[in-house]
Amino acid sequence: MGPGPANVHPLVREALSAPVLGHLDPKFIAIMDEVSEMLRQVFRTQNQATIPISGTGSAGMEASLCNIIEPGDNVVVGINGYFGERISDMVSRYGGNVIRAEGLWGQPLDPAVVKAALDRVPTVKLLAVVHAETSTGVLQPLPELIALAHERDALFLADCVTSLGGTEVNVDGWGIDVAYSGTQKCLGAPPGLSPITFGDRAVAAVRGRKTKVPNWYLDLTSLLNYWEGQDGKRAYHHTAPISMIYALHQALAVILAEGLEIRHERHRNNSLALHAGLEALGLNLVVAPQYRAYPLTTVYIPDGVADTAVRSALLNDYDIEIGAGLGPFAGKAWRIGLMGHTSAAKNIFAFLGALESVLVAQGYQAEHGAGIAAAEHSLEAASAG
Ligand SMILES: *Cc1c(COP(=O)(O)O)cnc(C)c1O
Repeated sequence: MGPGPANVHPLVREALSAPVLGHLDPKFIAIMDEVSEMLRQVFRTQNQATIPISGTGSAGMEASLCNIIEPGDNVVVGINGYFGERISDMVSRYGGNVIRAEGLWGQPLDPAVVKAALDRVPTVKLLAVVHAETSTGVLQPLPELIALAHERDALFLADCVTSLGGTEVNVDGWGIDVAYSGTQKCLGAPPGLSPITFGDRAVAAVRGRKTKVPNWYLDLTSLLNYWEGQDGKRAYHHTAPISMIYALHQALAVILAEGLEIRHERHRNNSLALHAGLEALGLNLVVAPQYRAYPLTTVYIPDGVADTAVRSALLNDYDIEIGAGLGPFAGKAWRIGLMGHTSAAKNIFAFLGALESVLVAQGYQAEHGAGIAAAEHSLEAASAG
């Protein structure tokens, strides 16, 4: 129940143990085609260029940026948490000129601030924003920011590492040009792959570059020559991480069998139950209700309670992992993940019971069983509604 990796679905763990095929074996190629097709469904896109990048979520971030950005390009980056900072670091390493659109940690970006950042330079290549900021638990509303980018003829990039598979991501419906995710958050597989999707305008930007993509491994054009083939032939690029592709294939099948809407509703209802439980124990949530990212909850550590002691006791005595606060929330808040297979009522009850015991052992006053009762009540209300 930390900020990832989340628990892996049992069918996905089984898929990891299947025999390793060659990366050009026709049976493996059929699996690759199905992975791309299922990724399109989960991203809600028709984008042909939809593939998993070898590497964790940061590899997808790197692939998105290194293919789009050329030296001197103006790039507006939304920064209201740790991962926005990481994007801006990468943009500057590729020679992009970073224009920061800053917001407070724990709050969404203000569209007026983003617009002012876009207006600071004559042309903008890309506006990059984190959808679910895992350092703060904020879900950024995207459509208004996408419209601002497109008014300025800029591409729009969304980091969907923590949102995809846990909350609505509508690449074509919203007009996202580039998006990437990671297998170990809400997709229910281990860390190791980063699904990305590039729309037509983004692919045109890659094909129209004046300079070579400065990263051989992540060059989209070469990757597509392997994933899609050219003139009916697939060219070896790098050896695909075969077992991880099996895992993603199975994870996507599990997601589509559950159904995207039902899966998002599960994440929502379970998070609302967790929130109700935490509040019934007297704790305060960091993010305002309308901006909460359901896969990740941030909650303030009560006064007089020792951060590390609580997390160690949860891990050592109850086998429950939660995350520490980052940046301004270090020592001040905890991060509780309910991602993918981890988002389950039994985990919420186990966690609330354990947290109550650990807090009470530290002298904190809480009404016995109040957290679990509030979570149960919330889940009952959700299933009745
Ligand atoms: C986890 C995460 C990443 C980085 O993914 P890794 O798998 O750790 O490389 C990037 N962006 C967000 C929003 C994340 O939550």
